[in-house]
Amino acid sequence: MKRFAVLGAIVISGITAVGVTAQGLPGITEIEHISGNVYKIFGAGGNTVVFVRENDVVLVDTKLPNSGDAIMAEVRKVTDKPIGMIINTHSHPDHMGSNNQISEMSGSGVQVIAHINTERRMEAATGPFGASQVDTSFTDRMTLGEGADRIDLYYFGAGHTDGDAWIAFPAARTVMAGDIYAWHMSPLIDPGSGGSMLALPTTLTRAYYGMRDIDHVIQGHGGVSTWEEFRSFMQFNRALVAQAEATVQAGGTPEDALEALDRAPSFAVFLDHKLKPGLEYGGTPWSRALINLRVVFQELRGEEPQLIMGVEDPHQH
Ligand SMILES: [Zn+2]
Repeated sequence: MKRFAVLGAIVISGITAVGVTAQGLPGITEIEHISGNVYKIFGAGGNTVVFVRENDVVLVDTKLPNSGDAIMAEVRKVTDKPIGMIINTHSHPDHMGSNNQISEMSGSGVQVIAHINTERRMEAATGPFGASQVDTSFTDRMTLGEGADRIDLYYFGAGHTDGDAWIAFPAARTVMAGDIYAWHMSPLIDPGSGGSMLALPTTLTRAYYGMRDIDHVIQGHGGVSTWEEFRSFMQFNRALVAQAEATVQAGGTPEDALEALDRAPSFAVFLDHKLKPGLEYGGTPWSRALINLRVVFQELRGEEPQLIMGVEDPHQH
């Protein structure tokens, strides 16, 4: 709970959903068309995906608390249909914070869906915003609807948390990855919510080979990647864990492992020293790689892995 509180503290106080939040996080920006009936709204927490079905609208993730009005204002730019369903990628408050508000605004009948481990966390009422109801959960895979309305939900294992759902829209050849893939850099690992750096490469590999015909990967925060970019992200995280294992065996440090990874030119984008424009919290890709090496070292040594929000990047520019 202590670790969850650390993450909650980032987003707990005085939130506004438009412009810049009270924490200085970027506010909501104009809804963007991604592909087919899939749109994305950036800001005020994680990305919100908007999927327009024949009779209603499905939202994936609902940002920080009190973002409901701003989200709905963007949805209304593309459709007048009612919200029928909310799917949450995981239990962090910057992804499900406005579930209750949007459900209330939309009247009864908004169905909330999440992975079973996420359901348990959302309903436990131990987070900074209290409980949030989940109506339907899934364990490995679930398909909703058909044709243009079809949604495939997948769970491939732990990474960012132990409830990271992947939400695919086959007609749009698009998947929403959630925070297991954010900002095209190694993801934040939240061990207090069951996250694991050691598990991450296997989870990403299962996702890469387990989903078919995807062209667009929407990240939990930040932008949209190609399937090929997602593959390079998978390969980097696999290399990071492999390098950590080799370095632990050789008696080295996370810094030694990072130096070895830095020698591979193909990994440059994942070890960059520039802050991503619009980044809400955390540091450079290089600092996240070092954090995740520290986390996986803890896991490999049988220590309890810790949530590490930031380390200094001496070369940040
Ligand atoms: Zn998260």
